Amino acid sequence: MIQINSEFFILENNKNKILNNITKYCSKCYKEFSQNDEIFLNKNNYEYICKDCACCLTQEIDNSEDECDLSECKNEVTLF
Ligand SMILES: [Zn+2]
Repeated sequence: MIQINSEFFILENNKNKILNNITKYCSKCYKEFSQNDEIFLNKNNYEYICKDCACCLTQEIDNSEDECDLSECKNEVTLF
């Protein structure tokens, strides 16, 4: 499991504020966030993304050998 790159992605603590005022959906995969999801802010473009997408992007940024949990990750996600 990849560690999310915290230089690029900030874990949002104020989840309720985001869900109520900003967005309910990941801006990469358009998954609807649930109360249990961790939401990350992409510092590069200020989009809110789910943990899976943050993981995929981290993998690309770090050029990591570790695989993200999502098998379809590499094909679906384009970096920024
Ligand atoms: Zn996503």
